[in-house]
Amino acid sequence: MTVQTQSPTPGSMTGQDHIDMVETYAAHNYHPLPVVIAKAEGVWVEDADGKRYMDMLAAYSAVNFGHNNAEIIDAVKQQLDKVTLTSRAFQNDQLGPMCRELADLCGMEMVLPMNTGAEAVETAIKTARRWGYKVKGVPQGKAKILCCSENFHGRTTTIISFSTDESCRDGFGPFTPGFEIVTYGDLVALESAIDENTVAFLVEPIQGEAGIIIPPDGYLRCARKICTEKNVLFIADEIQSGLGRTGKTLACEHEGVKPDVLILGKALGGGVLPVSAVVSSKEILGVFTPGSHGSTFGGNPLSCAVARKVIEILNRGTFQRAADQLGHHLLNRLTTLQSDKIKQIRGRGLWVGIEFKPEAGKAMDYCKKLMAEGILCKDTHEQTMRLAPPLCITKDEIDWAFDKLAKVING
Ligand SMILES: *Cc1c(COP(=O)(O)O)cnc(C)c1O
Repeated sequence: MTVQTQSPTPGSMTGQDHIDMVETYAAHNYHPLPVVIAKAEGVWVEDADGKRYMDMLAAYSAVNFGHNNAEIIDAVKQQLDKVTLTSRAFQNDQLGPMCRELADLCGMEMVLPMNTGAEAVETAIKTARRWGYKVKGVPQGKAKILCCSENFHGRTTTIISFSTDESCRDGFGPFTPGFEIVTYGDLVALESAIDENTVAFLVEPIQGEAGIIIPPDGYLRCARKICTEKNVLFIADEIQSGLGRTGKTLACEHEGVKPDVLILGKALGGGVLPVSAVVSSKEILGVFTPGSHGSTFGGNPLSCAVARKVIEILNRGTFQRAADQLGHHLLNRLTTLQSDKIKQIRGRGLWVGIEFKPEAGKAMDYCKKLMAEGILCKDTHEQTMRLAPPLCITKDEIDWAFDKLAKVING
């Protein structure tokens, strides 16, 4: 087959050329804003034509510590010159320290490293099922995992099997059995859904994709208690909520809750690489035996070097404090908006959802207007705009962004 190409050469391409090329050659599984980012620093990104924007999405919280973070980039560069990939067939000198440091950061004992968030969720599911059979004594093939309404845990076939969002599932069946949905925030529903074959309750401490949905006070604490009483693993998916975003290292800390199994991803890779992990106890992760699970890239030395730098940064606590203080500042300013277009503003740390009333139009319309003002953010679930800037944002930058937001929302 011969392919005729009239495309411009990469160096001479305009922003529109890039958008056209993506339209032609990349599958249409996303609907991005029409901005082509060519470089970035801190909270700022620059498009192919040199226009600057404030990044208010931070790659869904994968860039918590800022674009091109000097310390993280330096750690990557140093490791690049040593060794990048060994596979787990051999040992490497970054894996052990990374696992120990991550376990310590989380107050846990053991780590199973993977790459993407979805892989870590899959790993947690496998952990819970095996624990159910080998430790709890559930009959083979009967393990049940409870998940929440409006959850988001990734895009694999098994994970979408328990999604309540039809657009994620349409055309992808048949689905994996063994999951049951309970209403998020409803403790009675949780307690009554548990039976003798229930091995785990999988929950986001705050639901990000659903629109920064914060459960009622005490929900996580009581759910934790129910799980303990019924010998069910409490699995917290902190892929988006964790690692500083909400003003604490883990969002579960806001309720003093320690999960049995913790799932991390996104920011663990410092905005450089996909790095994810399941963090838990020796007893629970001890269900894995050689050959029972794995990943070619999981635990590779380059990923581990990045994660170690991220953990070192988190151990200082500065980004958590910034997220807490600046998050309050942002929420305080937003609540002065008093717009009749807004249904609700929710937030914790530097993680805010602005939900618009149906009659005020779609959140996407506001995102487009904000883009014209030099701010990039994205809608989620049609009516909600998510604000999640890199945690290195300053108070002045938040005030600048607030003025633009006020103009777009009131204008
Ligand atoms: C992003 C996300 C995932 C999936 O992570 P990927 O790296 O995209 O596979 C899972 N759970 C939550 C809560 C997320 O926000």
